[in-house]
Amino acid sequence: MSENQTEKQILFLDPVCTHNIWGGVRLKEDFGYTAYGDDIGECWGISAHPNGDGTVRSGALSGKKLSEVWNEFPNLFGNLSCDRFPLLVKFIDAKEDLSIQVHPNDAYANLHEGGPFGKTECWYILDCPEDATLVIGHHAETKEALKTMISEGRWKELLREIPVKKGDFLQIDPGTIHAIKGGFLILETQQSSDLTYRVYDYDRLSNGRPRKLHVEKSIDVITVPAKPPEEILISTARMENADGEPLNQLRLLYTCAFYRIYKLKLKEEAHFLQRYPFLNMTVTEGAGTVNGYEVKKGDNFILPFAFGDVFLRGNMELIASTVNSDFRED
Ligand code: ZN
Repeated sequence: MSENQTEKQILFLDPVCTHNIWGGVRLKEDFGYTAYGDDIGECWGISAHPNGDGTVRSGALSGKKLSEVWNEFPNLFGNLSCDRFPLLVKFIDAKEDLSIQVHPNDAYANLHEGGPFGKTECWYILDCPEDATLVIGHHAETKEALKTMISEGRWKELLREIPVKKGDFLQIDPGTIHAIKGGFLILETQQSSDLTYRVYDYDRLSNGRPRKLHVEKSIDVITVPAKPPEEILISTARMENADGEPLNQLRLLYTCAFYRIYKLKLKEEAHFLQRYPFLNMTVTEGAGTVNGYEVKKGDNFILPFAFGDVFLRGNMELIASTVNSDFRED
């Protein structure tokens, strides 16, 4: 198999689903994932993380894990210097509230957890209840106040809740306290890391016991004071022009040191050039084709480096991501 042949192939991935006490059935019923149980909390759609390494579904690389493809065909990812696939894209379906948590940054992960990555993540809200709120940040002015409020269990006073709606985008930097609530369906794009510190779990029991908390480490990493909400929440509605949401183009939602996130709303057809080291794509709504291959809501795929022209047809919405490194942006 020549390098050229693989470079022109779309890497369609079979996801890895997880069972969680707060999980539900929407990832099966709305997205068609085949997993057992009514507690499916997450589907890791694009991941080479050892806790959920996706499998290529078709083509010449069929059956290979994404981590294997990364190691054996670095040319498909623009020969990036990173030693592992750097991003992870997952659907999260919360039937119940998730615990209040916070993630470390790379420096802390390297010093205390054997590295390699901390966890910077972002959320695109696919669905949520009317008048919903999320826990993002806190109201403590100093680290001392934070410690006191945590030790005294003054959660209502400490935790900051902000109103959100479907289509909102949120950037969760390391050190930001956060929690998804019941009724939310989100697409999360993150560094490929599973490092989470749980601060508070609403005193719930799992198999008769409270889940482990990581209070000391949480206090270590929580940013004080918290970033203001307007630097975290980006309403996609706000980015629309007078004619509504721009159609048929990759629209940049957010960029940070670790990733660039795009949204593409497709009506009938679109074309763009794959100019990134690789481009992750997830269909979040509708159905259509990508260079002739049928895709539908819930499908995840990677367009490799040097893939060239991308032709999309149908009516669908996609979220795309890539790393923030060398490429040609128009
Ligand atoms: Zn998180």
